Amino acid sequence: MRPTVVEAMVEATQWFGNPTGAHRKAREAMRAVDDAREIVADALGAQPAEVIFCGSGTEADNLAIFGALNRTDAAVPVCSAIEHHAVLHPVEHLGGRVIGVDDLGQLDLDDLAGSLGPEVAVVSVMTANNETGVIQPLDDVVECVKERAPNALVHTDAVQAFPWIDVAAATPHVDLISISGHKFGGPKGVGAMVVRRGSGLHSQILGGGQEFDLRSGTHNVAGIVALGAAAAAMVDERAAVNDRVGALRDRLADELRRKVPDTTETGVTETADGTDRSLKVAGSCHLCFADIESEALLFLIEREGVFASAASSCASGAQDPSHVLAAMGYSRELAGGSLRLSLGYGSTDADVDHALAVIPAAIDQLRSHRG
Ligand code: PLP
Repeated sequence: MRPTVVEAMVEATQWFGNPTGAHRKAREAMRAVDDAREIVADALGAQPAEVIFCGSGTEADNLAIFGALNRTDAAVPVCSAIEHHAVLHPVEHLGGRVIGVDDLGQLDLDDLAGSLGPEVAVVSVMTANNETGVIQPLDDVVECVKERAPNALVHTDAVQAFPWIDVAAATPHVDLISISGHKFGGPKGVGAMVVRRGSGLHSQILGGGQEFDLRSGTHNVAGIVALGAAAAAMVDERAAVNDRVGALRDRLADELRRKVPDTTETGVTETADGTDRSLKVAGSCHLCFADIESEALLFLIEREGVFASAASSCASGAQDPSHVLAAMGYSRELAGGSLRLSLGYGSTDADVDHALAVIPAAIDQLRSHRG
């Protein structure tokens, strides 16, 4: 968390009233929640009354899928094959349709067009993927859905994209947008969602009717205030951070590819001018090393202070085999040697130097054991 966000969170403990209560302490707490709501609304290009706070990105994603069903006769959910499990599992659970991607990890728009019709209730395509960082063609998705699935809401999981992309500019015609605090210097366990007016979403948590009747439960006031403070700081710095961290990421990826033979970088194309990473968000460096097992590599580099991931973490802490790389057509062997390095607003040149010293040496060590 950003230090200023920690300060804002601690300060918010003074608003100990329950925001939905009737007295002055309650109104003070609700004012703090609504101040955060205005910041988030602004950052996502929405009206304050279109922003609801919830407990996580997962909760927002689940609400988007389950809540969009049965507003009309339409009851079929559709999503891309590279969605986070918070979207993919609900869609699969409901027997929905899953749309493929190309080898760069971008949605197959023809496959989408062929899967839409009046029976479709919601189409969910993430703004940028959490493993590869690849940005999705949302404008085309919206156009296709409006043309072919008149009863469908469009949802985008912007959890990974928000710190890098101007989501307000990228999603003006999207009905539902999810974000999560811990991806942009805020606390874990707080999420937010844009639900455009007139969406008719059905609440999945019933109770006191908080958050415009869409998410019952007493507000996490300090968490919401901190999420708002993090969003304000992040939006303020986003352009500068993109430039600085994008250059760090390029150096990291270029040097790892130079130092480690048989390395594949995902989501990029090669041009006469070098590697084109324009499809990817600036903080994402995602590589696959031949003849390596990710778990062993993660273990070795952790001992040297490099904390990374392979696919997405599951509750056990083990690494799930990547459904994203499988959808992109990567073999199980190559996907098994994937490494997901995430840079953030606090990443430095020294961090990149350290990773460049540690990772190639660890791979050499693992490969030499294989003979
Ligand atoms: N969606 C994406 C793209 C994510 O990367 C994550 C978390 O890493 C989530 C959803 C889930 O968010 P949360 O961890 O807040 O439940």
